[in-house]
Amino acid sequence: MILTMVAIMTVLTASAIKPIKVKYTCDVTQINKEMGDKRRKWTLNDPNGGWCYVRNDSTRSVGHNGILIYKNPYTGKFKVYDLKCPVCDKKKRNSSVRMDYSVTATCPKCKTSFNLCGVGHPVNSMDTEAYLEAYDFWIDGNIMHIDNSPGFNQRYNLWLSDYYSNPDNLK
Ligand SMILES: [Zn+2]
Repeated sequence: MILTMVAIMTVLTASAIKPIKVKYTCDVTQINKEMGDKRRKWTLNDPNGGWCYVRNDSTRSVGHNGILIYKNPYTGKFKVYDLKCPVCDKKKRNSSVRMDYSVTATCPKCKTSFNLCGVGHPVNSMDTEAYLEAYDFWIDGNIMHIDNSPGFNQRYNLWLSDYYSNPDNLK
């Protein structure tokens, strides 16, 4: 019993960043422009993959330090990560990762790079438990719904099974 509790405590301590509620909807074809992004390439409209930062302000609450919406250049699939660096967070410091021109984002303070194509895991750190916080979402046409509130997973799972039942999405 005590051993079980110790094990649970260890797991809880290892889990990186304190959970935060995220509920946000955006049009992935417009969001770069809305965020004042002047780039022409490597945006979410680029068929070869891209990214967009969405920062917190008075009109929206998007995670701890804002979010990074990422479109995989190889599969075209999206991922949504919190910008907060989990390695710095463990040392009670706050830092935001920045995109590299590739499949990774790097923290300017601790220099840890995270793989965005996988699950946001660190690629050059001894701390293999420090993942970027990833948020669930679903896409309806061009509209991305990011939501980690209770009851959301059901909708997300429906979307997921729908998505994978379409053979076009499995190519
Ligand atoms: Zn860091």
